[in-house]
Amino acid sequence: MAEKRDYYEVLGVDKNADEAAIKKAYRVLAKKYHPDMNPGDEAAAEKFKEASEAYAVLSDADKRRQYDQYGHAAFDGGAGGGGFGGFDFSGADFGDIFGDIFGDLFGGGRRSGGRSNGPMKGANLRTSVRLTFEEAVKGCKKEIELNVKEECKTCKGSGAAPGSTPEKCPKCGGKGQVIFTQQSFFGQVRNVQTCPECGGSGKVIKNKCPDCRGTGYTSIRKRYEVEFPAGVDNGQCKRMTGLGEPGQNGGPRGDVLVEAVVSDHPTFQRQDMDIFSTVPMSYAVAALGGDIIIDTIDGPVVYGVKAGTPTDTRIRLRGKGVPSLRNKDIRGDHYVTLVVQVPTKLNSEAKDLLKKFDEITIDSLHAAERFADSKNGDEAPKKGRKKKLF
Ligand SMILES: [Zn+2]
Ligand SMILES: [Zn+2]
Repeated sequence: MAEKRDYYEVLGVDKNADEAAIKKAYRVLAKKYHPDMNPGDEAAAEKFKEASEAYAVLSDADKRRQYDQYGHAAFDGGAGGGGFGGFDFSGADFGDIFGDIFGDLFGGGRRSGGRSNGPMKGANLRTSVRLTFEEAVKGCKKEIELNVKEECKTCKGSGAAPGSTPEKCPKCGGKGQVIFTQQSFFGQVRNVQTCPECGGSGKVIKNKCPDCRGTGYTSIRKRYEVEFPAGVDNGQCKRMTGLGEPGQNGGPRGDVLVEAVVSDHPTFQRQDMDIFSTVPMSYAVAALGGDIIIDTIDGPVVYGVKAGTPTDTRIRLRGKGVPSLRNKDIRGDHYVTLVVQVPTKLNSEAKDLLKKFDEITIDSLHAAERFADSKNGDEAPKKGRKKKLF
């Protein structure tokens, strides 16, 4: 065993150095030789151990006093072995120092759960399901099929073949991250990277499980029932908590987001909570008034058209729209545009009647004006009225 260097020499401080000077000296060395910053560098690891040991002694007033008196023999326990392995670090504030070092190197990320081998929630999965217009308005249950990752039964999720276990990654020492140093114009830049050897898990599997090829998961096709509430709209997602990808290192599973893809309806259009449609009415109904049947999401309703209703009149059927997602008792309205149908296929009787109608009402050019008059209570259209010239 090589002769142990003097602790003061190791830290490069004077025998009379105060606590602050010792701490400062160690911080510089720890930063320089820490294994995280020198992956795989044995010499650096040794230097780090040596400095840490020196600091553990010299930062503790009692131990320092013993060391000053007896030298290394004070801690050898008489067996001549001792050394770093059996050393008591309880008195030294390493946590504080490493906190400082990693605080400025990692921006605090190491301690805020950002470590790649800490518990992490699994990824969300996205899928979509097609709904009819009515299903979206009234709510529905739909079945979906998903490929779900489940823990491999053969290896119980370890990824290692039966009889073997995953080993600590030699490249990152199980940390899942490696630090590489780059020379830049301003000096050395140290960057933290997910370990390329183990992908951040901190473990390597030499003998892979044959059933999951080392992933620890097998994929199973599963069916789920998804309930969409009344009023769901195209593009909205139903979140199914905890059915997504498995978490890592004890983290929870992700979620499944099921997007509703709502089909167009042949006659209804939707805008938020309102429904729109166009309904034809005959010329006679428009002129004389009468009942028409209007299709709504609740089924057909009979609507009484007033005499003299012009084409493109919009009526509102209150509460016949889409329910609110928050409260299904609150519903939008259904707006109906009444359009006068111009007949294209007429038999001779209908044609004769129309011609006769036209003769009676004299000039069809001013029909609209007459209707306007009749709406104003002028029940009997005047005959023989002078033609207006435009
Ligand atoms: Zn397996
Ligand atoms: Zn690794």
